[in-house]
Amino acid sequence: MLKAKICLIGEAAVGKTSLIRRYVEDSFDDRYISTLGSKVSLKKLWLTSRSDPKRNVEVQLSVWDLIGERSYLDTLHKEYLKGAQGLIAVCDVTRYSTFEALDQWIPAAFRITGQVPLALVVNKLDLKDQVMCLYDEHEPQEKAERYGGFAVWSSAKSGMNVNPVFGNIALAVVRRIAAPEAQ
Ligand code: GDP
Ligand code: MG
Repeated sequence: MLKAKICLIGEAAVGKTSLIRRYVEDSFDDRYISTLGSKVSLKKLWLTSRSDPKRNVEVQLSVWDLIGERSYLDTLHKEYLKGAQGLIAVCDVTRYSTFEALDQWIPAAFRITGQVPLALVVNKLDLKDQVMCLYDEHEPQEKAERYGGFAVWSSAKSGMNVNPVFGNIALAVVRRIAAPEAQ
């Protein structure tokens, strides 16, 4: 069994805690409860080799959530990010500033973790029709690629694309462990 530490980063109220809750418990809560203290959730998943379907890799993800009220960049603790093998950088489709802020968050995190697999998640996709869409369609993917990662549009509320975010980041981490030279 492989173990992987994944950390979520991004501005307050973008949906970090909600994405974890959706992924780990498959539930959603409309209230905004700022997490006090960093919280670690565990979730097991199995990755199957495409070339050899009988080969399964069991992965134990430990998913780290930032302290709510203080989930701002200037308090991004070394302890929180130390040893992280994958990052999920989250922004909010209704607030473009949270997307811009990722240009602070991601380099700051990479300074601690080194260049690790990265998912850039534009969350609250269920609200997209209710807001004037502030994003150019390709912008998140372009930004993600600039940091060597990939972008996903998700909704913790509907569950849309939540499993693929965690599944793909786990896959990227496992690939990197299996073939570090190829990265
Ligand atoms: P965090 O500070 O980044 O951990 O954000 P939270 O997960 O606590 O979410 C902040 C607020 O946004 C809460 O009221 C959530 O219910 C709401 N929220 C989170 N994800 C979504 C989503 O995908 N869609 C909608 N409509 N609301 C969301
Ligand atoms: Mg939170």
